[in-house]
Amino acid sequence: MKALVLEADWKPKNGYKLSPYEEKTGKAIIGSSIWKKRELTLKEIEKPKPGKKDLLVKVENCGISEPDIHFYQTDREGYILYPGLTKFPCIIGHEFSGVVEEVGSQVNGFREGDLVTSEEIIWCGECTPCRNGYPNHCQRLEEIGFTVNGALAEWISVGSKYCWKLNEIRKSYGSEANALEAGALVEPTSVAYNGVFVRSGGFKPGDFVGVWGAGPIGLAAIALSKAAGASKIFAFETKKERRELASQMGADHVFDPLALKEDGSGPCKKVLELTNRQGISMGIETAGAPMQTIPEIEKSLAINGKIVQIGRAIQRVPMYLERYQARRAQFYGAKGHSGHGIFQSVIRLMASKKIDMRKIVTSRFYLDHAVEAIEKASKRVNGKVLVKI
Ligand SMILES: [Zn+2]
Repeated sequence: MKALVLEADWKPKNGYKLSPYEEKTGKAIIGSSIWKKRELTLKEIEKPKPGKKDLLVKVENCGISEPDIHFYQTDREGYILYPGLTKFPCIIGHEFSGVVEEVGSQVNGFREGDLVTSEEIIWCGECTPCRNGYPNHCQRLEEIGFTVNGALAEWISVGSKYCWKLNEIRKSYGSEANALEAGALVEPTSVAYNGVFVRSGGFKPGDFVGVWGAGPIGLAAIALSKAAGASKIFAFETKKERRELASQMGADHVFDPLALKEDGSGPCKKVLELTNRQGISMGIETAGAPMQTIPEIEKSLAINGKIVQIGRAIQRVPMYLERYQARRAQFYGAKGHSGHGIFQSVIRLMASKKIDMRKIVTSRFYLDHAVEAIEKASKRVNGKVLVKI
Protein backbone atom coordinates (compact mmCIF):
# COMPACT_ATOMS: atom_id res chain seq x y z
CA MET A 1 0.00 0.00 0.00
CA LYS A 2 1.00 3.64 -0.39
CA ALA A 3 1.94 5.54 2.78
CA LEU A 4 3.67 8.79 3.74
CA VAL A 5 6.62 7.72 5.89
CA LEU A 6 8.73 10.03 8.03
CA GLU A 7 12.31 8.90 8.56
CA ALA A 8 14.92 10.85 10.52
CA ASP A 9 18.34 10.40 12.14
CA TRP A 10 18.55 9.93 15.94
CA LYS A 11 21.10 12.67 16.71
CA PRO A 12 20.57 14.30 20.14
CA LYS A 13 21.54 17.97 20.07
CA ASN A 14 24.74 19.03 21.85
CA GLY A 15 23.91 19.39 25.53
CA TYR A 16 20.68 17.34 25.36
CA LYS A 17 20.89 14.56 27.90
CA LEU A 18 18.90 11.48 26.86
CA SER A 19 16.66 10.14 29.60
CA PRO A 20 16.85 6.42 30.49
CA TYR A 21 13.33 6.11 28.94
CA GLU A 22 14.54 7.56 25.64
CA GLU A 23 17.64 5.32 25.61
CA LYS A 24 15.57 2.22 26.36
CA THR A 25 12.61 2.80 24.03
CA GLY A 26 14.11 4.76 21.13
CA LYS A 27 11.23 7.20 21.65
CA ALA A 28 12.13 10.89 21.85
CA ILE A 29 10.30 12.82 24.58
CA ILE A 30 11.43 16.13 23.07
CA GLY A 31 11.49 15.26 19.36
CA SER A 32 12.87 18.66 18.31
CA SER A 33 16.06 17.99 20.31
CA ILE A 34 16.74 14.57 18.78
CA TRP A 35 15.41 14.00 15.23
CA LYS A 36 17.57 15.41 12.44
CA LYS A 37 17.53 15.29 8.64
CA ARG A 38 13.93 14.19 8.31
CA GLU A 39 12.75 12.70 5.03
CA LEU A 40 9.05 12.58 4.17
CA THR A 41 8.53 10.08 1.38
CA LEU A 42 5.55 8.38 -0.20
CA LYS A 43 6.50 4.70 -0.01
CA GLU A 44 5.10 1.37 -1.03
CA ILE A 45 4.89 -0.72 2.14
CA GLU A 46 3.10 -3.84 3.30
CA LYS A 47 -0.62 -3.54 4.10
CA PRO A 48 -1.12 -3.92 7.89
CA LYS A 49 -2.74 -7.04 9.33
CA PRO A 50 -5.22 -6.37 12.14
CA GLY A 51 -4.60 -8.03 15.50
CA LYS A 52 -7.37 -9.81 17.42
CA LYS A 53 -8.64 -6.60 19.01
CA ASP A 54 -8.06 -4.33 16.00
CA LEU A 55 -10.02 -2.94 13.09
CA LEU A 56 -8.48 -2.75 9.64
CA VAL A 57 -9.72 0.59 8.31
CA LYS A 58 -9.62 1.68 4.66
CA VAL A 59 -8.68 5.32 5.18
CA GLU A 60 -10.79 7.84 3.26
CA ASN A 61 -9.73 11.26 4.63
CA CYS A 62 -6.86 12.45 6.76
CA GLY A 63 -6.47 16.05 7.95
CA ILE A 64 -3.11 17.82 8.17
CA SER A 65 -2.53 19.07 11.70
CA GLU A 66 -0.12 21.40 13.46
CA PRO A 67 2.27 18.57 14.51
CA ASP A 68 2.46 17.37 10.87
CA ILE A 69 3.55 20.89 9.92
CA HIS A 70 6.17 20.81 12.70
CA PHE A 71 7.52 17.51 11.33
CA TYR A 72 7.87 19.13 7.92
CA GLN A 73 9.49 22.34 9.13
CA THR A 74 13.05 22.16 10.49
CA ASP A 75 15.32 24.54 12.40
CA ARG A 76 18.65 25.90 11.12
CA GLU A 77 20.47 22.77 12.23
CA GLY A 78 17.97 20.53 10.41
CA TYR A 79 16.02 19.28 13.45
CA ILE A 80 12.23 18.87 13.28
CA LEU A 81 10.27 21.59 15.09
CA TYR A 82 7.79 19.24 16.81
CA PRO A 83 8.75 19.17 20.50
CA GLY A 84 6.80 16.10 21.63
CA LEU A 85 6.82 12.31 21.84
CA THR A 86 8.00 10.69 18.60
CA LYS A 87 9.51 7.50 17.23
CA PHE A 88 10.59 7.22 13.61
CA PRO A 89 10.33 5.79 11.03
CA CYS A 90 6.57 6.17 11.20
CA ILE A 91 3.63 6.79 8.88
CA ILE A 92 2.31 10.20 9.93
CA GLY A 93 -1.29 11.51 10.01
CA HIS A 94 -3.83 11.08 12.80
CA GLU A 95 -7.04 13.05 12.04
CA PHE A 96 -8.77 10.43 9.94
CA SER A 97 -11.94 8.69 8.93
CA GLY A 98 -12.52 5.53 6.98
CA VAL A 99 -14.49 2.36 6.42
CA VAL A 100 -13.99 -0.82 8.46
CA GLU A 101 -12.72 -3.53 6.11
CA GLU A 102 -11.78 -6.28 8.55
CA VAL A 103 -12.70 -6.93 12.18
CA GLY A 104 -10.34 -8.72 14.61
CA SER A 105 -11.66 -11.97 16.13
CA GLN A 106 -12.02 -10.49 19.65
CA VAL A 107 -13.62 -7.19 18.65
CA ASN A 108 -17.12 -6.38 19.87
CA GLY A 109 -19.51 -3.77 18.52
CA PHE A 110 -18.08 -3.14 15.06
CA ARG A 111 -18.66 -4.74 11.70
CA GLU A 112 -17.41 -4.49 8.15
CA GLY A 113 -18.67 -1.37 6.41
CA ASP A 114 -18.96 0.76 9.58
CA LEU A 115 -17.75 4.33 9.06
CA VAL A 116 -15.30 5.22 11.82
CA THR A 117 -12.85 7.73 13.17
CA SER A 118 -10.32 7.13 15.93
CA GLU A 119 -8.72 8.79 18.90
CA GLU A 120 -5.08 9.62 18.30
CA ILE A 121 -4.08 8.88 21.90
CA ILE A 122 -3.36 5.20 22.44
CA TRP A 123 -3.93 5.23 26.21
CA CYS A 124 -2.95 2.06 28.02
CA GLY A 125 -5.87 1.80 30.47
CA GLU A 126 -3.57 0.32 33.11
CA CYS A 127 -1.30 3.08 34.41
CA THR A 128 -2.36 5.16 37.42
CA PRO A 129 -3.58 8.24 35.47
CA CYS A 130 -5.58 6.00 33.09
CA ARG A 131 -7.12 4.08 36.01
CA ASN A 132 -7.99 7.36 37.69
CA GLY A 133 -9.89 8.51 34.59
CA TYR A 134 -7.24 10.69 32.94
CA PRO A 135 -6.40 8.93 29.66
CA ASN A 136 -5.01 12.14 28.13
CA HIS A 137 -2.22 11.89 30.70
CA CYS A 138 -1.40 8.21 30.21
CA GLN A 139 2.11 7.33 31.33
CA ARG A 140 2.56 4.55 28.78
CA LEU A 141 1.23 6.55 25.89
CA GLU A 142 1.56 5.72 22.21
CA GLU A 143 0.29 8.16 19.59
CA ILE A 144 -1.05 7.38 16.13
CA GLY A 145 1.12 9.13 13.54
CA PHE A 146 3.81 9.96 16.12
CA THR A 147 5.09 6.71 17.66
CA VAL A 148 2.94 4.13 15.82
CA ASN A 149 1.88 4.09 12.17
CA GLY A 150 -0.65 6.75 11.20
CA ALA A 151 -3.31 7.39 8.59
CA LEU A 152 -1.65 9.12 5.65
CA ALA A 153 -1.85 5.67 4.10
CA GLU A 154 -4.35 3.52 2.27
CA TRP A 155 -5.07 1.36 5.34
CA ILE A 156 -4.52 1.56 9.07
CA SER A 157 -4.90 -1.09 11.74
CA VAL A 158 -6.13 0.41 15.00
CA GLY A 159 -7.40 -0.93 18.33
CA SER A 160 -11.21 -1.02 18.22
CA LYS A 161 -11.44 0.56 21.69
CA TYR A 162 -10.06 3.81 20.25
CA CYS A 163 -12.57 3.88 17.33
CA TRP A 164 -15.94 5.63 17.16
CA LYS A 165 -18.69 5.02 14.62
CA LEU A 166 -19.83 7.79 12.29
CA ASN A 167 -23.00 6.02 11.23
CA GLU A 168 -25.27 8.64 12.87
CA ILE A 169 -23.52 11.42 10.94
CA ARG A 170 -23.98 9.45 7.74
CA LYS A 171 -27.74 9.30 8.35
CA SER A 172 -28.10 13.03 8.85
CA TYR A 173 -25.56 14.19 6.23
CA GLY A 174 -27.14 12.08 3.53
CA SER A 175 -24.02 10.57 2.02
CA GLU A 176 -21.03 8.51 3.00
CA ALA A 177 -18.64 11.04 1.45
CA ASN A 178 -20.02 13.92 3.56
CA ALA A 179 -19.96 11.85 6.73
CA LEU A 180 -16.37 10.77 6.10
CA GLU A 181 -15.26 14.35 5.55
CA ALA A 182 -16.88 15.46 8.83
CA GLY A 183 -15.48 12.32 10.48
CA ALA A 184 -11.90 13.39 9.85
CA LEU A 185 -12.66 16.57 11.82
CA VAL A 186 -13.92 14.82 14.98
CA GLU A 187 -10.43 14.55 16.48
CA PRO A 188 -9.44 18.25 16.27
CA THR A 189 -12.94 19.29 17.34
CA SER A 190 -12.58 16.98 20.34
CA VAL A 191 -9.35 18.75 21.35
CA ALA A 192 -11.34 22.00 21.52
CA TYR A 193 -14.24 20.30 23.36
CA ASN A 194 -11.88 18.93 26.00
CA GLY A 195 -10.53 22.41 26.74
CA VAL A 196 -13.79 24.35 26.60
CA PHE A 197 -16.10 21.95 28.45
CA VAL A 198 -14.16 19.21 30.21
CA ARG A 199 -10.98 20.75 31.59
CA SER A 200 -12.44 24.12 32.46
CA GLY A 201 -16.01 23.01 33.18
CA GLY A 202 -17.45 25.27 30.46
CA PHE A 203 -19.43 28.51 30.65
CA LYS A 204 -23.11 29.32 31.08
CA PRO A 205 -25.52 29.96 28.18
CA GLY A 206 -25.61 33.72 27.69
CA ASP A 207 -21.98 34.24 28.70
CA PHE A 208 -19.49 36.14 26.54
CA VAL A 209 -16.58 34.13 25.12
CA GLY A 210 -13.33 35.12 23.39
CA VAL A 211 -11.20 32.91 21.13
CA TRP A 212 -7.60 33.88 20.38
CA GLY A 213 -6.40 32.17 17.18
CA ALA A 214 -8.75 30.89 14.44
CA GLY A 215 -6.86 27.89 13.13
CA PRO A 216 -8.81 24.60 13.02
CA ILE A 217 -8.90 24.18 16.83
CA GLY A 218 -9.95 27.81 17.36
CA LEU A 219 -12.63 27.47 14.68
CA ALA A 220 -13.91 24.37 16.45
CA ALA A 221 -13.94 26.29 19.76
CA ILE A 222 -16.05 29.01 18.10
CA ALA A 223 -18.55 26.47 16.70
CA LEU A 224 -18.79 24.68 20.06
CA SER A 225 -19.22 27.94 21.98
CA LYS A 226 -22.01 28.96 19.60
CA ALA A 227 -23.72 25.59 20.05
CA ALA A 228 -23.39 25.92 23.85
CA GLY A 229 -25.21 29.24 23.88
CA ALA A 230 -22.53 31.94 24.17
CA SER A 231 -24.37 35.19 23.56
CA LYS A 232 -21.38 36.95 22.00
CA ILE A 233 -18.24 35.36 20.61
CA PHE A 234 -15.11 37.41 19.93
CA ALA A 235 -12.37 36.05 17.67
CA PHE A 236 -8.86 37.43 17.22
CA GLU A 237 -6.85 36.20 14.26
CA THR A 238 -4.10 37.72 12.14
CA LYS A 239 -4.93 35.94 8.82
CA LYS A 240 -7.76 37.37 6.73
CA GLU A 241 -8.92 33.99 5.36
CA ARG A 242 -9.19 32.60 8.88
CA ARG A 243 -11.10 35.66 10.10
CA GLU A 244 -13.69 34.97 7.41
CA LEU A 245 -13.95 31.36 8.57
CA ALA A 246 -14.33 32.56 12.18
CA SER A 247 -17.40 34.57 11.13
CA GLN A 248 -18.81 31.60 9.23
CA MET A 249 -18.41 29.36 12.28
CA GLY A 250 -20.38 31.77 14.46
CA ALA A 251 -18.07 34.50 15.82
CA ASP A 252 -19.97 37.78 16.29
CA HIS A 253 -16.99 40.14 16.41
CA VAL A 254 -13.80 39.28 14.54
CA PHE A 255 -10.62 41.35 14.69
CA ASP A 256 -7.06 41.34 13.46
CA PRO A 257 -5.07 41.88 16.69
CA LEU A 258 -2.16 43.37 14.76
CA ALA A 259 -4.37 46.02 13.15
CA LEU A 260 -5.84 46.81 16.57
CA LYS A 261 -2.39 47.43 17.98
CA GLU A 262 -1.62 49.90 15.20
CA ASP A 263 -4.46 52.14 16.28
CA GLY A 264 -3.42 51.83 19.93
CA SER A 265 -6.27 49.62 21.15
CA GLY A 266 -5.58 45.99 21.93
CA PRO A 267 -8.12 43.12 21.89
CA CYS A 268 -9.03 43.74 25.54
CA LYS A 269 -10.22 47.28 24.76
CA LYS A 270 -12.55 45.94 22.07
CA VAL A 271 -13.87 43.23 24.40
CA LEU A 272 -14.57 45.68 27.22
CA GLU A 273 -16.13 48.20 24.83
CA LEU A 274 -18.46 45.60 23.30
CA THR A 275 -19.44 43.93 26.60
CA ASN A 276 -20.35 47.13 28.40
CA ARG A 277 -17.10 46.65 30.39
CA GLN A 278 -18.33 43.31 31.80
CA GLY A 279 -15.70 41.20 30.04
CA ILE A 280 -15.69 37.60 28.84
CA SER A 281 -16.46 34.59 31.02
CA MET A 282 -14.07 32.43 29.04
CA GLY A 283 -10.95 33.28 27.05
CA ILE A 284 -9.79 30.39 24.87
CA GLU A 285 -6.16 30.37 23.74
CA THR A 286 -5.69 28.32 20.58
CA ALA A 287 -3.04 30.49 18.93
CA GLY A 288 -0.08 28.91 20.72
CA ALA A 289 1.24 32.47 21.17
CA PRO A 290 0.71 32.99 24.92
CA MET A 291 3.34 35.74 25.19
CA GLN A 292 1.06 37.92 23.06
CA THR A 293 -2.36 36.54 23.97
CA ILE A 294 -2.36 35.87 27.72
CA PRO A 295 -1.79 39.52 28.78
CA GLU A 296 -4.74 40.52 26.57
CA ILE A 297 -7.00 37.69 27.75
CA GLU A 298 -6.25 38.47 31.41
CA LYS A 299 -7.39 42.06 30.93
CA SER A 300 -10.58 40.91 29.10
CA LEU A 301 -11.90 38.61 31.82
CA ALA A 302 -15.21 39.05 33.59
CA ILE A 303 -15.43 38.42 37.34
CA ASN A 304 -15.07 34.65 37.83
CA GLY A 305 -13.68 34.37 34.26
CA LYS A 306 -11.66 31.44 32.99
CA ILE A 307 -8.68 31.15 30.66
CA VAL A 308 -8.24 27.86 28.81
CA GLN A 309 -4.85 27.21 27.24
CA ILE A 310 -5.21 24.77 24.33
CA GLY A 311 -2.48 26.08 21.97
CA ARG A 312 0.98 24.67 22.67
CA ALA A 313 4.12 26.75 23.24
CA ILE A 314 7.36 25.75 24.90
CA GLN A 315 8.03 28.98 26.77
CA ARG A 316 7.50 30.76 30.06
CA VAL A 317 4.80 33.42 29.99
CA PRO A 318 4.41 36.53 32.15
CA MET A 319 1.12 36.41 34.06
CA TYR A 320 -0.23 39.19 36.25
CA LEU A 321 -1.53 37.16 39.18
CA GLU A 322 -3.08 40.13 40.97
CA ARG A 323 -5.69 40.15 38.21
CA TYR A 324 -6.61 36.50 38.90
CA GLN A 325 -7.17 37.39 42.54
CA ALA A 326 -9.01 40.63 41.83
CA ARG A 327 -11.23 39.09 39.12
CA ARG A 328 -11.67 35.71 40.88
CA ALA A 329 -10.23 34.22 37.71
CA GLN A 330 -8.84 30.79 36.91
CA PHE A 331 -6.43 29.31 34.42
CA TYR A 332 -6.74 25.81 32.91
CA GLY A 333 -4.17 23.88 30.88
CA ALA A 334 -5.83 21.53 28.39
CA LYS A 335 -4.32 18.67 26.42
CA GLY A 336 -5.78 15.75 24.49
CA HIS A 337 -9.23 14.55 23.49
CA SER A 338 -9.80 11.12 25.01
CA GLY A 339 -12.24 10.00 27.71
CA HIS A 340 -15.04 11.99 29.39
CA GLY A 341 -17.53 11.17 26.60
CA ILE A 342 -15.81 13.67 24.31
CA PHE A 343 -15.77 11.82 20.97
CA GLN A 344 -19.36 10.68 21.54
CA SER A 345 -20.54 14.24 22.24
CA VAL A 346 -18.72 15.72 19.23
CA ILE A 347 -20.19 13.06 16.92
CA ARG A 348 -23.67 13.76 18.34
CA LEU A 349 -23.23 17.51 17.83
CA MET A 350 -22.26 16.87 14.20
CA ALA A 351 -25.10 14.39 13.61
CA SER A 352 -27.65 16.82 15.07
CA LYS A 353 -26.19 19.62 12.89
CA LYS A 354 -25.56 21.81 15.94
CA ILE A 355 -22.06 22.15 14.48
CA ASP A 356 -20.88 21.61 10.90
CA MET A 357 -17.11 21.43 10.85
CA ARG A 358 -16.98 20.69 7.10
CA LYS A 359 -17.11 24.46 6.55
CA ILE A 360 -13.51 24.78 7.71
CA VAL A 361 -12.10 22.52 4.97
CA THR A 362 -10.49 24.86 2.45
CA SER A 363 -8.15 22.55 0.49
CA ARG A 364 -8.16 18.94 -0.59
CA PHE A 365 -5.25 16.91 -1.94
CA TYR A 366 -4.77 13.29 -2.95
CA LEU A 367 -2.30 11.06 -1.09
CA ASP A 368 0.21 11.27 -3.98
CA HIS A 369 0.43 15.00 -3.16
CA ALA A 370 0.44 14.69 0.63
CA VAL A 371 3.74 16.55 1.02
CA GLU A 372 2.27 19.47 -0.98
CA ALA A 373 -0.73 19.35 1.36
CA ILE A 374 1.57 19.75 4.37
CA GLU A 375 3.45 22.54 2.62
CA LYS A 376 0.15 24.33 1.96
CA ALA A 377 -1.00 23.86 5.57
CA SER A 378 2.34 25.23 6.79
CA LYS A 379 1.38 28.67 5.42
CA ARG A 380 -1.32 28.67 8.15
CA VAL A 381 -3.71 30.63 5.95
CA ASN A 382 -6.19 27.81 5.36
CA GLY A 383 -8.79 26.34 7.63
CA LYS A 384 -8.25 22.60 7.38
CA VAL A 385 -6.25 20.91 4.62
CA LEU A 386 -7.60 17.40 3.95
CA VAL A 387 -5.88 14.55 2.16
CA LYS A 388 -8.24 12.24 0.27
CA ILE A 389 -6.82 8.74 0.23
ZN1 LIG B 1 -2.11 4.72 30.75
